[in-house]
Amino acid sequence: MPPPIVTFAPLFPQRRGSSVAEQGTHKPLVGSSNLPLGTTDRPMAVFSFGVQFYIHNMQIKIDKLIRSKRRTIALIVERDGSLTVRAPKRAAAVEIESFIHEKAGWIFRTQEKIKSSIVIPNKQFVSGENFLYLGNEYELRLVPPQRPVLKFDGGFTLGYSAKPRGEQAFIRWYKQRAFSIISERVGLFSQGYGFTPKQVKISSARTRWGSCSPDGTLNFTWRLVMAPLEVVDYVVVHELVHLRVKNHSSRFWGEVEKIMPGYKERRKWLRVHGERLNI
Ligand SMILES: [Zn+2]
Repeated sequence: MPPPIVTFAPLFPQRRGSSVAEQGTHKPLVGSSNLPLGTTDRPMAVFSFGVQFYIHNMQIKIDKLIRSKRRTIALIVERDGSLTVRAPKRAAAVEIESFIHEKAGWIFRTQEKIKSSIVIPNKQFVSGENFLYLGNEYELRLVPPQRPVLKFDGGFTLGYSAKPRGEQAFIRWYKQRAFSIISERVGLFSQGYGFTPKQVKISSARTRWGSCSPDGTLNFTWRLVMAPLEVVDYVVVHELVHLRVKNHSSRFWGEVEKIMPGYKERRKWLRVHGERLNI
């Protein structure tokens, strides 16, 4: 079993020979800095863990906070992706928070890595199995060999001899649909709101729904066409607005909201259901 991944902030200058290693250190102290913690006798702050932070649009939640006699704050991303914070008894909430802010990028990247490695039960490509397309489930039926091997007509049919290549067939199909639908939506919103994207590309990213390259290329994962069209549109608008505002500042969200007043709901949909957008 792979151990959890840990990062540390040394609380005090380390004594020689002492170690900040915990459950075996798996990650060096990359970028962690000395935090002026534990220097006062202020009363122990009640820290509202379970609270979610949004740091540069990264959603971070403390799942467990353990206070002990330790000297450092450690952030531990567990094997299930949850975040445990171990802190000295007297570390103030604001100090823990500021450390989390500082490490937000690391936490987020580590959790993303874990998420994408979690094995979602793979499809078997047998009759009766359901596949998502634009927010609806459609049943698959295996049929005598056909060209193309996978067809969609209010339901999926796959030539049974192509069953061992079912996954590739579906991915190819999703990619084609994604390119055609997303290009159309990008065109529509571009016309309506005066955006000039360079081109649309389809990727196979697992957790990144879309991105905007500096040269104006918009990238979207084919998995997005498994989501309802409103959600596809949200990601399209999000990336288009990045052509004008590169970051996730309040100005950015203001622009998104102008075009799509209900964007928060759609964004939430992705957060809640995103993991299902897979085969
Ligand atoms: Zn963005």
